[in-house]
Amino acid sequence: MRFFLFSFIFLLLGEGVWGGAGVSPGPSDNDLTHWCGQVRGAVSKLDWTLEPCQGLDWKVGGTSIQGSPLVYAEFGPLVATNTTLVFAMVHADEVTPLYLGIQLAHWLKEHQSEFALSRVVIAPLVNPDGFFNQPRTRVNIRGVDLNRNFSTQDWKGKALQAWKRRYRSDPRRFPGSASSSEPETLFQEELIKRVRPQKVLSIHAPLNFLDYDGPSVVSLSKFPHDYVKECLKLRKRLKAISSGFFPGSLGNYAGQELGIPTLTLELPTADPKKANRYWEHFKTGIRTMIEYQVPDFSTRGTALPRAASGG
Ligand SMILES: [Zn+2]
Repeated sequence: MRFFLFSFIFLLLGEGVWGGAGVSPGPSDNDLTHWCGQVRGAVSKLDWTLEPCQGLDWKVGGTSIQGSPLVYAEFGPLVATNTTLVFAMVHADEVTPLYLGIQLAHWLKEHQSEFALSRVVIAPLVNPDGFFNQPRTRVNIRGVDLNRNFSTQDWKGKALQAWKRRYRSDPRRFPGSASSSEPETLFQEELIKRVRPQKVLSIHAPLNFLDYDGPSVVSLSKFPHDYVKECLKLRKRLKAISSGFFPGSLGNYAGQELGIPTLTLELPTADPKKANRYWEHFKTGIRTMIEYQVPDFSTRGTALPRAASGG
């Protein structure tokens, strides 16, 4: 994990056009019911005691290529100024992040009164087509790695080049033929613009690290101490390694370019048998992150781009 200069230009994120260009009109209640049934079936095959829908108020923020709703849920007061946006299952063959995403939703629902000052928005299954596919795939149904498809400034010049050279055209890491070409990418970008989170948590597996992207610091010692402390709590027992820098990744897009502190939690494995153990292990750290108030760094000078980028 690398920390860089933590000073950034405060970016006024324009109001996203919710369900706008590139995203099909939201599916009907029937589609959401169908989605619940599909997830319930998949969860039961994974031997998880986990109810994906009952008691949860999923909303639809877009439609996948194959017509699945792209769902999210909101917790906490709309007026809260401390908002965390959580993404899980961008890579649909990783599985364990789905358990954490849905458990977190239930847990927040049960503990809402304890989060009077914090708001959380969770999108637990960003890549439903890859998840419902047999076998499950990292990429979406068009073969695009959704964590390489964000419309970062360097996408046009570097994404395909990095894919060919660095990954030798690995089909699991294809960034798409254009940035933001996929509805699942637009869903995430529009959610970020609409929710205007103070921080982002993206849950992956199985690389076993915590990665940070965002307003940069020159060195760890110059990073606001309390935030480092909170990150380290979440990182406990995880190896701290950087996964490098990728054009079109969420960390690059949200953390680097929009200046939103973005943590990528890579769970140790994608073994469904360990999902509940991971939830128990990480929930306190996730809670700490949710409650943590990111200081306003908007007056601390200009951004020095370049940070590590997850997953
Ligand atoms: Zn991943």
